[in-house]
Amino acid sequence: KKVCLWAATLPRIPATSLALHNFDVNYGLQFGDLWPSVRVAMLCEQKYGALINNFSDVPGLLSELRFKGARDFVQSGRSLGEGTGGAGRLPGEGLTPATGSTEEESMLPEMSPNIRCFVFPKGDIARFKPARPDSCGTLSYYLLDAASLLPVLALDVREGHTVLDLCAAPGGKTLALLQTHAISQLTVNDVSESRMNRVRRTLQSYLPREVWSGNRVAMTTIDGQLWGEMARSTFDRVLVDVPCTTDRHSVMEEENNIFKKMRTKERQKLPALQTQLLVAGMEATRPGGVVLYSTCTLSQLQNEMVVEQAMHVAQDERGVTVEVEDLGPLERHFESTFHFAPRQRLGLLVIPHLTANFGPTYLCKLRRVR
Ligand code: SAM
Repeated sequence: KKVCLWAATLPRIPATSLALHNFDVNYGLQFGDLWPSVRVAMLCEQKYGALINNFSDVPGLLSELRFKGARDFVQSGRSLGEGTGGAGRLPGEGLTPATGSTEEESMLPEMSPNIRCFVFPKGDIARFKPARPDSCGTLSYYLLDAASLLPVLALDVREGHTVLDLCAAPGGKTLALLQTHAISQLTVNDVSESRMNRVRRTLQSYLPREVWSGNRVAMTTIDGQLWGEMARSTFDRVLVDVPCTTDRHSVMEEENNIFKKMRTKERQKLPALQTQLLVAGMEATRPGGVVLYSTCTLSQLQNEMVVEQAMHVAQDERGVTVEVEDLGPLERHFESTFHFAPRQRLGLLVIPHLTANFGPTYLCKLRRVR
């Protein structure tokens, strides 16, 4: 009885402290001298980007953002026929990059089109105001960690593609995918019904009804691990943005923290779940198509090691072969906006830094060959 009383009154260690301790041990080893600067950045205010909503039309919005010192980190360096109007111009109306006009442009990485996102430059910690609605009530931009757009850009969506967003909630990347205006059929999936409701609400606030309510967007709440068998060799592009230890959230917020003692088992099972989700994504991709794996953790165990393990499982158990694609061109293109970790064995890792406090975001692009 005495022991129980003692245990019940023992001050509980906050989950954020447990997370930080875990990271100090693991990332101290993984990053060496780099870890203290990543650590301090993760404990400071994160930076946002404003994903421009191509379906909204707030006159003068882009000029206003530029006037405040923000710039479009995706499209700068590309020749766009941007004009002076609001954000409401849709693809085909001057938003597509003019190709091959300079040598620099021919070296551009392959990226999903028509995505625009404004950020303040390195070292500038200004914040964006909440987005204004246009005359129809559609919000003009969506605030998100700008690094979380890299997986969508690297997915390299092209005109007419079918796309599966396997773990979609709360829907930031889904919204970015729809900005491309290139997708013929988008399947938006998340295992959680309540979280899918959040995706619905987001899409409703940002997109005209005809975009998300027709046959072009399907919403499903199926365990992502089942998609490989359910839709083998189906999609041109599959985004596998898995549940992870969400490192920045874990060191900052007690609520819904995966480092809480009662969630220890769930946390330990993450790499196995991530592997199964990625294998399913590989299987659902058609040969020649692309599957993009991403997380918001620095953990090698949840990043590169999951990719390696999934490649083995896909090959040995499903007869599916994928090859890792080089993201070097993407890294070079965006090095003035993000801090990238020194070369990974596989994929690309954005690390938080006080001058560019985005991430963590890990991404690895895989092409199915068989
Ligand atoms: N892609 C989202 C975005 O950009 O807003 C973030 C995805 S979040 C990192 C991971 C999501 O995976 C959570 O919404 C969670 O509900 C979902 N999830 C967890 N287990 C899953 C499973 N077995 N199948 C499908 N989704 C799952």
